[in-house]
Amino acid sequence: MDVPYNGDPDRVEPVSGAAQRLDTLRLAGLKVGVLTNQSGVGRSMISEAQMHAVNARVDELLGPFDGWFICPHAPEVDCDCRKPKPKLVLDAAQQWGFDPSEIVVIGDKASDVEAAHNAGSAAIKIGGACDLASAVDRVLTGRI
Ligand SMILES: [Zn+2]
Repeated sequence: MDVPYNGDPDRVEPVSGAAQRLDTLRLAGLKVGVLTNQSGVGRSMISEAQMHAVNARVDELLGPFDGWFICPHAPEVDCDCRKPKPKLVLDAAQQWGFDPSEIVVIGDKASDVEAAHNAGSAAIKIGGACDLASAVDRVLTGRI
């Protein structure tokens, strides 16, 4: 569930079945990371400590993740990392020693898809008929 600008770890509530889906990817030997715009920090709506507490809770419920790639900046800062810019995707590729074309970004926003494409990576947009289960299935079967 998407709680905008969430600063409360107790409000982290994974989508049903998400943990199992992510474990399926891990068991297949894939790296799984989180690429996230968290502008609530840059907008001073939540503190950096709150952000880390929320992310730690996400990691506890859905992790372990092979990497967290975070843009904490407000949009008006015009930083290099805020999706749809490709930096978070490129950072993941570099950290894992992959070519960006080997990365698939699964996201529910147009900016996720654009960030992937701007990096030279593939993307699967969650929404409508495509849920996380079918996205994971597409990754594992190469139907991207
Ligand atoms: Zn940024």
